[in-house]
Amino acid sequence: MKANEMDPIKADLTIIGAGMAGLCAALFALEQGLSVVLAGKSGSIHFATGLMDLMGVYPPGHEWDEPFAAIDRVRSEEPGHPYASITNKEIDTALETVQRFLGDHGLPHGRAPGRNVDIITSMGTLKKSHMIPLSMWRGVKVLEKRCPTLLMDFTGLKIYSARQITSVLGESWQGLGDATVRFPGTEGKEEVYPEHLARSLDIYETREKLAGKILPLMKNAEAVGFPALLGMYKSCETVRSLEKMLGVTVFEIPTPPVSVPGIRLQEIFLKGLKQNDALLSLPEMVKRVESFSSGKFKITAGESGTLKRIESKGVILATGRFLGKGLRAERTGIRETLMDLPVIQPTKREKWHNPHLFDPRGHPINRAGLQVDGMFRPLTESSMPFAPGLFAAGSILAHCDWTRLKCGSGVAIATAHAAVRAFCKRYK
Ligand SMILES: Cc1cc2nc3c(=O)[nH]c(=O)nc-3n(C[C@H](O)[C@H](O)[C@H](O)COP(=O)(O)OP(=O)(O)OC[C@H]3O[C@@H](n4cnc5c(N)ncnc54)[C@H](O)[C@@H]3O)c2cc1C
Repeated sequence: MKANEMDPIKADLTIIGAGMAGLCAALFALEQGLSVVLAGKSGSIHFATGLMDLMGVYPPGHEWDEPFAAIDRVRSEEPGHPYASITNKEIDTALETVQRFLGDHGLPHGRAPGRNVDIITSMGTLKKSHMIPLSMWRGVKVLEKRCPTLLMDFTGLKIYSARQITSVLGESWQGLGDATVRFPGTEGKEEVYPEHLARSLDIYETREKLAGKILPLMKNAEAVGFPALLGMYKSCETVRSLEKMLGVTVFEIPTPPVSVPGIRLQEIFLKGLKQNDALLSLPEMVKRVESFSSGKFKITAGESGTLKRIESKGVILATGRFLGKGLRAERTGIRETLMDLPVIQPTKREKWHNPHLFDPRGHPINRAGLQVDGMFRPLTESSMPFAPGLFAAGSILAHCDWTRLKCGSGVAIATAHAAVRAFCKRYK
């Protein structure tokens, strides 16, 4: 599909928002043979760790090794949760499709069927997750064995501290040590950034120089852990060649944002999706969505001068929450930014947060969002679908405190699949 300034672009489906939910919705829609416009920036995926949690914690404080058992419990106790309208089989199919797509395009992910795994965080704590970049999956195995391991750090890398991790995990992991070296080519620099180091490691010579600095520090280490910056476009190759040079298992530990695995995800998704001619990806933000009695939508994206008009049979709203700008907090309440759809929210602003910041139940504001029907169509105040062809997916949905339940990407992927399925059921 090609964009032309004058004529409206015609597509079966317009997906608004190119975060995890929007990108996955585009993947599933293309697999169904639909023509798709994917509109918007994918900025917020840069912040994500690259881990794809399915369901790690429920109720708050209770961790699960079996995510589908946790989801079954959520379904029975929280019928409004987005997972409640999707079967485990569909969730599994959606994850499998994403795993296959990422693997086919050079970003393989590991996943144990039906299981969560423990992963080391940059704080030195352990977290339950489900689908993980292969570079981090190696770390899962190292953690299980607790073999002698060296964690590397780089002078001037301010967002990550290997010493922090060893100070927390060292008590229960004999043979865990850390070391800091200057990253090749950063001599004299006070601060270094993960994105720059990652790009530098795409070059073979940088890896050789780095391995040369690490080898004398290894003692009896059987594995070496790095902050997640082992290559930007050549991460698999970088891990493989460092393993060869060091002669041990090499793995990555997720870092706080901005996150290299998040950037990799975005790049691979867009590159892979764009290979399909049925997709038109527009970086412009959508400014207006109009729905007509004919069932069609007219969508306007961009600023004057670069204005794009789109006509489609259906729309999937995947614009995220406050960070993504799908929701906006105002003095009078929480608003949906694009169509002013009703938002489920606490009755008063004073009730957005519980009095205690660290209340294990979380804060009501984090469960605010769009109420949808079983077909993922946003509802009006009178509980009717806003428009037959309007669907919503991802973190904009109500009743899901994903940071607390550790289900962020899982919900984004599964609801994207369910929204595309609902669209196909109606229009194909
Ligand atoms: C710091 C951080 C860490 C995370 N860590 C994890 C983790 O460890 N495990 C995990 O499973 N998940 C994690 N996630 C969550 C996950 O990556 C997704 O952000 C989440 O699942 C929600 O995705 P989404 O697509 O619904 O929303 P978002 O990611 O917010 O994407 C919404 C997109 O819509 C776009 N948009 C908004 N309005 C418009 C408009 N009018 N027109 C066009 N585009 C628009 C925004 O620019 C944005 O890119 C993390 C997220 C963050 C932010």
